[in-house]
Amino acid sequence: MLLPVLFFCRIGIKRLLPCVWLLAAGLLQAQSITLTAEQSRLNLGNGLQYVEAPNADGSLDTALAIAAQHWKTSDTHNLNLSYTDRPYWFRTTLHNPGTRPLLRQLELAYPVLDYIELYSINQHGQVRHWLLGDKYPFKQRPYLHRNFVIPLEIGAGETLRLYLRVHTSSALQMPLHLWQAEAREAHDQQQLLLQGVYFGTMLVMLIYNLILFFGIRDWNYLLYVLWITFIAGFLASFNGLAFQYIWPEATTWNDQSIAVLLSLANVFGVGFSIAFLQLRRNLPRATPALQSMIVLGLIATLVALWLPYQLAIKFAIFNAVISILLIMAAAIHLWSAGFRPARLFILSWSSVLIGGVILAMNKFGLLPSTLFTEHAAQVGSALEAVLLSLAMVDRFNSERKSKERAKVDLLRAQQDLLDSQRKQNEILENRVHERTRELEQANQKLQEMSSTDALTGTRNRRYFDQAYAKELKRMQRDGTDLSLLLLDIDHFKRINDTWGHQIGDECLRLVAQTIGQHIRRDSDTLARVGGEEFCILLPNTSAAGAIFLGETIRSAVAALSPEINGQHLSITISIGIASSSQQLPMPPEQLLNLADKALYRAKKLGRNRVALFEPERDQGSA
Ligand code: GH3
Ligand code: MG
Ligand code: MG
Repeated sequence: MLLPVLFFCRIGIKRLLPCVWLLAAGLLQAQSITLTAEQSRLNLGNGLQYVEAPNADGSLDTALAIAAQHWKTSDTHNLNLSYTDRPYWFRTTLHNPGTRPLLRQLELAYPVLDYIELYSINQHGQVRHWLLGDKYPFKQRPYLHRNFVIPLEIGAGETLRLYLRVHTSSALQMPLHLWQAEAREAHDQQQLLLQGVYFGTMLVMLIYNLILFFGIRDWNYLLYVLWITFIAGFLASFNGLAFQYIWPEATTWNDQSIAVLLSLANVFGVGFSIAFLQLRRNLPRATPALQSMIVLGLIATLVALWLPYQLAIKFAIFNAVISILLIMAAAIHLWSAGFRPARLFILSWSSVLIGGVILAMNKFGLLPSTLFTEHAAQVGSALEAVLLSLAMVDRFNSERKSKERAKVDLLRAQQDLLDSQRKQNEILENRVHERTRELEQANQKLQEMSSTDALTGTRNRRYFDQAYAKELKRMQRDGTDLSLLLLDIDHFKRINDTWGHQIGDECLRLVAQTIGQHIRRDSDTLARVGGEEFCILLPNTSAAGAIFLGETIRSAVAALSPEINGQHLSITISIGIASSSQQLPMPPEQLLNLADKALYRAKKLGRNRVALFEPERDQGSA
C-alpha cells in the first residue's frame, strides 16, 4: 500500500520562503545524479552525503538549515555508521534530463532501521514525505516489502532532492539503491528463491533431526534442532522476513527478537557443542568456560527484553563471538588429540565464521555486493546445518564402530580369559591326575609292602589269608577245584645252627625264589606263612595237578645245592597237599589244616617228599 504523504501542506506559507532560499543554495552545491531510462539499478551509496542531526527536530527545515560544509560524503557503496544513538541526515540529488518521466523505486535494504523519514523536494519546491521504519506496523509501509521500498516518480527535466533522516538503535547502514521496478522485482525473485532455499534447507534439517531425536532419544539432536530453529529465526528477523510474515504488528518485539533469537541460538549452539564434542569427558577443563557462555546467553536472552536494543545486541554478538572462538579452540584441540568427529564439526563452524566474515567484508565495502556475499550468513549457516548433520552421522558411526570394537575386544578378552582358565584348569587337572597317580602308586606300593614278605619277596601271611578266603568263596560259588600246598624246609633249624641265621635267611630266599619260578599262573598264590614254611594256593587245580607241581618244586629245591664257604649245602623240602574237588570234596576251610596233616606225614615218612592228604591215612594224626 502506498502511503505518500504530501508534506507540502504541512509547511506553513511563512516558512516557505527561507525554505526555497536554502533549497536553491543546496541545489548549487550538491552534485546531482543523472538518471537515464536505461539504468535498471543505481547504487546511491557512493556520493551519499550525511551529517549527524544537530537536534532532535526531525523536520526538513533542520536538514535544510545545516551548513554545506558540515555534510560529509560517503565513498563506499554501503555506508555503515555502525551503532549510534544519534539521528543522521542523508541527502542525494536525482536529475532526470530526459523528456519522459521516470518511475523508480528507492530501496533501503536494511530492514532493522527503526525510524526513517524521507523527504523529496523538486525544483519547484514541492515536498513529499514518507514515514517508514520497523517501529511502525508493517502494513503502514508504502510498499509491502521486507526492505524499505519507496516508489518515486522523477518527472521529465525534474531535479529531485532526497533527504533521509534515520534514527535507529540498530547499526546504521545505508545500502541505498534506485531501481527500475522490473529489475528490482527480478532481483527480489532471486533473493526470495535463495531465502526459500535457505529456510527450506533449515526446515528440512529441523524436521529430519527432530524425527531422529524422537527415534534415537539422543539429546544431541534436540539441541541441534533448537540451535537451527533459533539461528534461522534470527536470520528471518534480521532480514525482515519475520516482521513481514510472522509478527507484522509486533514492533517492539521485532527489535528485541534479533538479540533474543541470537542469544538463544548461542545457548543451544554451545549446548550442542558441549554434548557433541563430549567436552565433559574429553576436555573437562574447558567445559566450565563454555557452560558459563550458556549462562551468559540465558542472561543475554532475558536482558534483551529490558535493555535498549543497542546494548542487548552488542551483548549477544559479544557472547556469540566468544562462544564460537571457544568452541573452535576446543574442537581444534580435540581434533589434534585424535578425536575424529571434531573434524567435520570444525568445518561446519568454520562455514559460519567465513559466512560472517564475508558478510562483514561486504558491509564494509571490501567485497562487492553479490547475491552470494549478501547472503553469506545464510549460506554459512545452511552449510553449517548440513555439515553438522553429517558430523552427527559421522559421530554416530564412529561411536558405533568404537562400540563394536569394544565389544570385539571384550569378547576377545573374555575368550582369552576362558582360554587361560581352561589352561589353568588343564594344568590343575594334570597335576591332580599326576598326584592321584603318584598316590595310587604309593598306595599300591604300600599295599604291596603290607602284603609282601620282607625277607623273601613272596606274599605274606596276611595276603595269603585274604586270598584264601576269596578263593574259598569262589570255589563254593562255582564248584571248582582248589588245592593247597604247604611247604616246609627240612631240618632248617640245623642249617641255622650250623651256618648261622644269615645263611639261613639266604637259604630261605633261595628256596622262595626257586618255588616262585614254578608258579606261572596269575591266579596261583605263593606266600610265606611261617618261619620256614610256604604255602601255595592253586585255584582250579586238581589233586593230581597239585602233586605234579609239588613234585617239580621239591625236586628243584633238592637240586639246588648252594655253595657256602667252599661247601655245598643240601636243602630239601617236604610238601603236604590238600585238595578239594567235586569227586572228592573236602571242607574248604579245613584245607590248610589238612595240608598240615599231609605235611606231617611227609616229614614222618622221611622228609624231602610230597604227600597228599588222604582221610583214611591222615585222619587223627597230629
Ligand atoms: P623239620 O625238618 O622237622 O621241619 O625240622 P626243623 O628244624 O626245620 O623244624 P623246626 O620247626 O624245629 O625249626 C624251624 C626253625 O626255623 C626254627 C627257627 O630257628 C628257624 N627259623 C624260623 N624262621 C626263620 C627265619 O626267618 N630265618 C632263619 N634263619 N631261621 C628261621
Ligand atoms: Mg617248621
Ligand atoms: Mg622245617
